[in-house]
This record gives sequence, structure tokens and C-alpha cells, in this order.
Amino acid sequence: MIKTRIAPSPTGAIHIGLARTALYNFFYSRNKKGKFLLRIEDTDRERSTEASLNSIIEGFKWLGIEWDEGPFFQSQRFGIYKRFADKLIEENKAYRCFCSTDRLRNEREQASKEGRAWKYDRLCLNLTDDEIERKLKAGDPYVIRFFIPNGESVYNDLIHGEIRKKHSDIEDFVIMRSDESFTYNFSVVVDDALMGITHVIRGVEHINNTFKQILLYKALGFNPPLFAHLPLILGPDKKKLSKRHGASSIDEYRQDGIISKALVNYLTLLGWSPGDNREIMDLADIIALFDVKRVKKSNAVFDKDKLLWMNSMYIKEMDIEALSDEVLSFIKHQGINGMLSVIDKDRDYFYRVLELIRDRATTLVDLIETARIYLFEDYDIEKKAMKYIKTGIEHLKLIKQRYEALEVWDKSHLEEELRALSEERGEKAGLFIHPVRAALTGRKVGPPLFDIIEVLGKIRTIKRLDRVINMYII
Ligand code: GLU
Repeated sequence: MIKTRIAPSPTGAIHIGLARTALYNFFYSRNKKGKFLLRIEDTDRERSTEASLNSIIEGFKWLGIEWDEGPFFQSQRFGIYKRFADKLIEENKAYRCFCSTDRLRNEREQASKEGRAWKYDRLCLNLTDDEIERKLKAGDPYVIRFFIPNGESVYNDLIHGEIRKKHSDIEDFVIMRSDESFTYNFSVVVDDALMGITHVIRGVEHINNTFKQILLYKALGFNPPLFAHLPLILGPDKKKLSKRHGASSIDEYRQDGIISKALVNYLTLLGWSPGDNREIMDLADIIALFDVKRVKKSNAVFDKDKLLWMNSMYIKEMDIEALSDEVLSFIKHQGINGMLSVIDKDRDYFYRVLELIRDRATTLVDLIETARIYLFEDYDIEKKAMKYIKTGIEHLKLIKQRYEALEVWDKSHLEEELRALSEERGEKAGLFIHPVRAALTGRKVGPPLFDIIEVLGKIRTIKRLDRVINMYII
């Protein structure tokens, strides 16, 4: 059975790259009917925070990512890592290094002055057992370094194919720091091996680590998993996507009113395609088709406009109840409580309003702003709309009388009535249409007028016409 994992460090929000990596691991495990686990890589005690951990968990849930095991916390596993590190020392595959940070810094600076590449010179590899014993007794601080054997490693990346690296390019890296905390490369190998991970899917920036990790797997007597390194996500300027390019965390997109399903759909296509031109895909479609081997090698460019377009497609085409659920959970998340009770009072009216306005909205923020006009009677009236009202006040009074007497309230009767009135008076229909729209919505433009009036219903329509007419009674 295959098993994948996502292993975030809780040092910030979920950025776009992490979200995509998590999704690909999740999809792959589901496609192969395997397992997917969540591991929190919190070995960096200073940078890891509770707030970040909570936002990662909450963010994954929002994206619809479900893990079968975990979360596991590396900070609770130091005892396990220690056992394996000690084993490597016993087997002469790792050694204690007592070199001071000052010495290492000086060596590095000297090499850089002379234009030489520098890696650890293995000074402490030559310490005798007695010397080591003495230093340990004296309480001298030390780190544990992994001994890199001579040779070359090669592995077959599921996305990039065969990659090789000479060991002479790798230094004897630290696996345990002097405070007895463990470094990423070591803890990740022990965990992936003990947790039975079969496929490691992560960002391309980890390829160099992969070689170190493969050497550790071998030294520890474990079988390495298969590796797949996902291409980078770039900004429009072709530089690695970062805060400089605007919103880079999924929380920000959530705040901006992006629907999680649209974000998932968009991120999935950022580096992978189903092999045809399909663009709108739901979770079930993606899981059925996802294969990590079809991930593209080339870097992907994050295109915010495309994401917004996709979001607008979801808003337009989603089942109305599902859309309403999205809006409601967004409202709750944003804490706009006043709106909730109004919606709850008449859910059917809310559905009709959404149906009316969804084609013109790009985000949930747009949708809510427009919905507000239909839900509350104290909607503002824009300046441009006010002009129509001022010049059309007499027409508003006339149409109000006609609509008050109208019995069948649907768009065709509403239109007939307005056109009949304008014909009787020998005036263009626009002289009624523009002020009515302005009066009922406070806006100059919007959905087709008779659709608006039908959705508002008779009581609201008359009330709204009265409200603006009354503004002109001195
Ligand atoms: N904590 C590492 C990161 O966030 C995990 C890398 C990996 O998947 O091995 O980059």
C-alpha cells in the first residue's frame, strides 16, 4: 500500500506552494487507495508557533484535505532520533564534532577570501576515544555529524528522471545540534522510514536534501522511498512566488472571497493536467485522474486573473445550495453576524437573490456586497443612481401606482405594465427603467430590471419606491 505525507514546519501561514504539495500528496494517496499522513516538523523551537500550527490545520481542512494519520509532532520524537543517531555513532557512520562555531566561521571566511569552496574538514573525525571521553566528561558542547562515504549517488525521480550527485559535493552535515535537537534531514529520514512512507512528494528545492537523505537511509539500514520533486511556482516576473507578488498565503485568498474548491482546482492545474483541456474539475474527478508521473517538469506561473476567473466560474455554476453554504461559511468566518440572521429569516429569498446576482460576481466579497443591497432596506444610493432618481421622480410615482395594482408579480407582467405605461404617455421605456433600477438598488447598472423586481417581490418593491419618493417630499 502506498503512503504519502505532508510535513509542514509551523513557522507561518500556508503558502500557495505548501498547499499545492499537500494537495498532490493527498490526491496521489487517494488515487492509489493508500494512506496520507500529517507530520508537523517543529524541531526549530524558536520559529515554531502554536498560531501557525492552528492556521495550518484550519487551512488544510478548509481546502478539504483529509489525513488518515497524525498529526505527529517531531518535537515529541527526539528520544527516537537520539537512538538512531547513537546507533550511527556506534557503527562509525557518524561522529561527534566539538569544533566551536568561531572556528567554523573563521575557516569558512578564510576559504571564501581565497575563493575556495569550503566544507567541514573532518578535524573531529580524528579524535581518539580518550580525547572524546575527556571532552564529554568536561561537558564540552558538540554536534553529531554524518560521515559521507566516497562515491556517487543516483536516484530516479518520478518527475525528473535519473539524477546523480558526487559525494565529494556533500559535506559531513550535522544531524544533531549541540542543544540535542535534530536537523531536518535526519529527523525526516527516521520519520519517513518508521512511518512507512512510500512516496515523498515535495518541492524541487529539496533535491539536494534528497541525496543526503538517501545516504542516511542506507546508513540506517532502511529502504529509501520513491521521490517526486514538484516544480517551482513563479510570479508573473518569473521569480519564485513570494509575498512581493501580493497574496501568497491561502488565508489571504480565503479573506478575499476565493472559494476553496476553486482554489483547489486552480492549484491542481498549476503543474499538472489531466491530459485533455478540461479546466473545471471537482475533487472526485481530480482524484480519479491524478498521477504524480504526469506532473510537469517546467516551473509553473501563478496567474491571479486565471484564479479569479475560475472562482467566478464556480460562483456562476455551483449548485445554488452549495453556493449559499459557501457564502454562509464565509460570512461566519468574517464575523458578519448581522447578515446571518437576515438570511436565516428567509432562505428562499436568499437563494433567489444569489441566483440573480451570481453572474456578475468574481469573489464571495463581491457577492456579499451586492447581496447586502437586496437584504437590507437601508442600502446606499450611489451618486450616479441619484441623478436618475432626481430626474425621474414623476415616473417613479406613476409606476408605483401601476405596480401597486398589479396582481401577477412576474417579470413578464412587470415588463408589460411598464411598457404599457410608457406607450400611453408616448415616452421611451428608458425614462422609467433607469430611475426604477436606481431606486430599487441604488445602482445605475446591474441585473436585468424585471428580474430584479420579480425577486424583490411586491412588498419590498413598493417600500423601496416609497423610500426614494419620500426623499423628495419636503
Ligand atoms: N518541513 C519541510 C518543509 O516544509 C518538509 C520537506 C519534506 O517534505 O521533506 O519544507
